[in-house]
Amino acid sequence: MSDADFQIDDRPTKPAIMRGLRCKCPNCGVGQLFAKYLKVTDTCPSCEEELFHHRADDGPAYLTILIVGHILGFVIHFMWVQFRPEPWVMATSLTIGAVALSLFLLPRMKGMVVAIQWARRMHGFGHNG
Ligand SMILES: [Zn+2]
Repeated sequence: MSDADFQIDDRPTKPAIMRGLRCKCPNCGVGQLFAKYLKVTDTCPSCEEELFHHRADDGPAYLTILIVGHILGFVIHFMWVQFRPEPWVMATSLTIGAVALSLFLLPRMKGMVVAIQWARRMHGFGHNG
């Protein structure tokens, strides 16, 4: 494999990221990226692109905590200053909000990380085409 193989941008990053955020295959945008909640399919059911090469590891969890933490920081401040609710109301509602938002964001963040790895030919994605 020569250097020229890496200079052809046949995997544009931005469209891949948008597909990943929708939990779709970064190659075709049609097939589902996940076989289960966070289990990436070995190959895309639509275009048969190999997806098992990903190494998302802790990246999606880090990004999810980063986003949810920042949002909750502002929400805690706003809630307390504007409404001054009972502590148990605040704790319960923020806990439910944090868990729900985390469960919503986690697969989307993982989709994005897998898409970036696919588009930039990181890890095993670099050896097949
Ligand atoms: Zn596909």
